[in-house]
Amino acid sequence: MFNCVLLYISFPFLLEFILKFILNISNLIVFNTALLMPLTLIFPFLFFKNKTNLLKILYIFLVYMPIFINICHIFIFNSEISCASYASMFETNYQEFIEFFQHFISKNLIIFIVLFWLICGLFYIFSKELSYEIDKFKKPAIILFAILYGIFCFGDIRYKFPMEKLIANYIEYKIEQIKDKNLLKIMKNFSFNNVKSLIKNDQSELYVIVIGESANRDHMSLYGEALKTTPRFDSIRDELQIFENVRSKYCCTFKALKTILCFDEQLKNGDIVTLFKQAGFKTFWLSNQYYIENSDNITTIISLLCGQKVFVNKAHRRTKLSSNYDGDLVEHFAKFVHDSAQKKVIFVHLLGSHFPYANRYPREFDVFFPTQNTKKSREVARYNNSILYTDYILFKILNIIKLLKINSYLLYFSDHGEDVTEDPESPHCHNESIASPPMFRIPFIIWLSDEYKKLNENFIKNWDLNKQYNTGDVIHSIIDLSRLNCDSFNKNKSIFYENSSK
Ligand SMILES: [Zn+2]
Repeated sequence: MFNCVLLYISFPFLLEFILKFILNISNLIVFNTALLMPLTLIFPFLFFKNKTNLLKILYIFLVYMPIFINICHIFIFNSEISCASYASMFETNYQEFIEFFQHFISKNLIIFIVLFWLICGLFYIFSKELSYEIDKFKKPAIILFAILYGIFCFGDIRYKFPMEKLIANYIEYKIEQIKDKNLLKIMKNFSFNNVKSLIKNDQSELYVIVIGESANRDHMSLYGEALKTTPRFDSIRDELQIFENVRSKYCCTFKALKTILCFDEQLKNGDIVTLFKQAGFKTFWLSNQYYIENSDNITTIISLLCGQKVFVNKAHRRTKLSSNYDGDLVEHFAKFVHDSAQKKVIFVHLLGSHFPYANRYPREFDVFFPTQNTKKSREVARYNNSILYTDYILFKILNIIKLLKINSYLLYFSDHGEDVTEDPESPHCHNESIASPPMFRIPFIIWLSDEYKKLNENFIKNWDLNKQYNTGDVIHSIIDLSRLNCDSFNKNKSIFYENSSK
C-alpha cells in the first residue's frame, strides 16, 4: 500500500523528469500540464471508490486522453494544441497525415507513449488501494488544494483542464469554418468597384503567379547560398528582378495564403481571382497541393472561383502513397498558356519544399549530401535538393512563357520560409508558436517579357529591389504588376510604388 501512495505522489514529478531529463523537453507548458496531474489523478480516487469500472474507464478517456494528446503535440511542435492545430488536423488528408507521421515519429515520442500508458495503467490497477489511503489521511487537504487551484486558474485558458481546452479550441475552429463556408456564397457574388486595366483591350496578356511552399531564400544560390541550389535561375540572373527584403507575414500556410489572396486577410473583402475575372481575364488554378475535399480550406475556395482548375496531386485517393512531384504541373501549364483566351492569369501552387523534403524531388535531384551523420544534417541536404528541384520547375515554366513572346510576367514567391539548419537546438520547419526569422525569409522574383517592358516602360523604371516589404500587402503588388486598378487597390501598399514614376 505504501508503494502505491509513493507511486501516486511521484507521478507528476516522474512525468516531468522523463520529459525534461530523459527526453530533453524543457518547456513551461509541459510543467503546467504536469502540475495538473495531481488534481486529475486525485478526483477518481475520491469519488470513484466502489464505483464501476465503466466510470473509471470513462474518466481515463476524458482526462488522460487530452493530456496525452496535448503532450504529444508539445513533443512535435513545442507548443500546446490550439485552434490552428485543428485546422491543420482537419484540413489535411490521409497522405499528408502519413507523411507527417513518418516525419515526426521519433524514439523519444515512442518512449513517451509507452511510459505514459504504462503509468496510467498502474494507477488504474492500484486505484482501489490508493483511494483507501487518500480517503483516510488526506481528503480534507486535497479538497482545499483543489478549491484553491480552481479559484486561481479560473478563466485562464492556459491552466484549464486539458479536455476543456481541447473542446474550447475545437469550438473556435468550428466557428471559423462556418464563417468561411458562408463566405464562399458571398464571394461568388462579390463585386469590386471601378475595375480598370491600363492595358488596351486588344492586347494579349498572360500573367503567371507561382506561389511556392516553405522556400527560405537563404538556401538559394540566387540569394547568396554557397551551394549551387538554383543554377538555372543563376544563369539568367540578369533577366530577373530579385527582391532582397521580402518577408512573409505569417509562417503558417493557411494564414499566409489568406493574406496573399484576399484583401485585408478577409475573404469577404474580395479576392484576387474575382478581381482578375472582373477585369476580363480567364483565370486558371494549377496546384500540386493536396485537394481538401468537402472542406473550406482557403485554396479550395479560391480555386472554386477560377474558370479552370487542376489539382495534379492525387495522393488523397488513398490508393497511392507517394505524392506527385511539382514536375507533373508542367504539362497542364503548357495547355493553359495555349488556351485561346486573350487575357489569362495562371496561379501555380507548388508543393515546393514542404516536409518531408525527401518526398519533393525525383532521384536525379539527389545532389546535395549531408555533411554530418545527423538527422538535422540529412534534413538540410534534402531541403536543398527540394530547392534545386523548384529551380528546375520554375525554369521549365518560364521557358514555356518565353516561347509565346507576348505581354507577360512570371512572379514567384513563397507562402512562408522554413527553418532548416544543422544546429540541433534551432527550431524546425515552420510553426507560429516557435516562430524564428528564417520562417519568414522568402524569395520574391519577377521575370518580365520584352513586350511587357515595352508597354510599361515608366512603371518598371525605378523599382527598389531592396525595399522592406511583407506579403501582407502583396495583393496590391499583384494588381499593380498586372496593370489593374480598382477602389480596393492602394498603390502605397505596392512593392513597386516607392520611387516609381507612375
Ligand atoms: Zn506553407
